[in-house]
Amino acid sequence: MLSRGRRIYKVQKELLGYNHRKSVVLSAENVSPRTPPDGAGPASPNKHVVVVGAGVIGLTTALLLSELPGYSVIVMAKHMPGDIDIEYASPMAGACFMPFSAPGTDNASWDGSSWYQFKNLALNHPEAGVSFQEAEVRLREEDLNHLPHKCAEYSLLMSSSYAPPCTKIPPGIVQTTTFKTLVINPSVYLAWLVARCIERGVVFQRKKFEHIIEVKLSLPHDSVFAIVNCTGLGAASLGGVDDLNVIPTLQQFVVVSNEASKLIFTSGSSKTGDEMCSVMNRPAGGGTILAGPWHLSHWYPQVDPNAAIRIMEQALELDPSLNVDGKGIGGLNIMSHEIGITASRPLGTRVQMETLFDTWLIHNYGHGAAGFQNSFGAASACVNFINNNRDIDPLTQV
Ligand SMILES: Cc1cc2nc3c(=O)[nH]c(=O)nc-3n(C[C@H](O)[C@H](O)[C@H](O)COP(=O)(O)OP(=O)(O)OC[C@H]3O[C@@H](n4cnc5c(N)ncnc54)[C@H](O)[C@@H]3O)c2cc1C
Repeated sequence: MLSRGRRIYKVQKELLGYNHRKSVVLSAENVSPRTPPDGAGPASPNKHVVVVGAGVIGLTTALLLSELPGYSVIVMAKHMPGDIDIEYASPMAGACFMPFSAPGTDNASWDGSSWYQFKNLALNHPEAGVSFQEAEVRLREEDLNHLPHKCAEYSLLMSSSYAPPCTKIPPGIVQTTTFKTLVINPSVYLAWLVARCIERGVVFQRKKFEHIIEVKLSLPHDSVFAIVNCTGLGAASLGGVDDLNVIPTLQQFVVVSNEASKLIFTSGSSKTGDEMCSVMNRPAGGGTILAGPWHLSHWYPQVDPNAAIRIMEQALELDPSLNVDGKGIGGLNIMSHEIGITASRPLGTRVQMETLFDTWLIHNYGHGAAGFQNSFGAASACVNFINNNRDIDPLTQV
């Protein structure tokens, strides 16, 4: 028995032909913004755009689109800010900027443009829950080639201050780098994005879709000009997308009220070998995050008590200032044990456009552990694409 969405999709496919597999990757190069002619606003009525997903990616895309004239933007999602659910990555994030993206890639370019936006928020909008924090990255020799070792170049890209490696290198570590980074309190920031969207007329509707074609039919009286698919993990099971390259990636962390001296990331330690660990203070009362390693293909949403103990021991080794009066783990004021799962995509983040019959379908998902630092850049790529194709009928693109 086919679901409603799949039945409608089958009928439309027969009537119009199956055409939505033509796709173009939206890289930084092919989506430069189009400047409207002087003083000219859009002559045609508003175009309806549905953004599916209310994580940091969907909300940022909706916000940027709402800043352009001529669009009515609706965010439809199963989860909204304020919800906590294992399938909803954004509220669980650290979140900070870290040099994960290889220089020269789209992800690095998105990080770069996002940095300027978040830096502006840290400097001018304290209510957004973003602030600067000193950061130190410590790497073992075996991790130099596949972990964030480009801190110097990265901090240049981010116009951040960069300090050469410190002289006191912990045992087993061959490289340490310090620089200034940005940290984000996800609950405060997501709420801030919703408020800015509502101010600009974006409408929010709670909805779960079984198939992408249902989104096209979601506005009873109006046609949908474009759909932006920001479903994160949902892209794996959403009919018509069914992206089997989306892989759940899990991180366990402990939230404490003790304050860390700065953000510290290590690729491993003498105590726990391979396991990476990090500590960071979330701004605006978000607590201090003690985080363990990432586990690819992990879909088991249970806190592991042994892992929690290892994380706390590593964190104390990483930042001795957390070791209150030498009490070890006993001196940590534990607020909660948590896990978060994000959508990784080994083939690369999917920022790509297709046509879905007479509607543009733009994908923006699979940001792995970098959704916040990618958010503005990737959302701009999608929004520029929509605006550059404002007068083009998707049916002519088959
Ligand atoms: C523990 C942890 C730490 C992290 N730390 C960092 C960090 O330090 N820095 C950083 O940049 N990033 C970090 N990340 C990654 C970042 O959180 C994610 O990349 C980002 O949140 C992904 O956002 P998203 O909007 O794509 O997905 P999500 O936040 O998962 O949102 C998906 C949205 O789509 C909706 N949806 C899905 N399917 C459907 C459907 N069928 N119908 C309707 N709605 C649907 C959901 O309801 C939800 O609203 C971290 C992630 C985790 C888990």
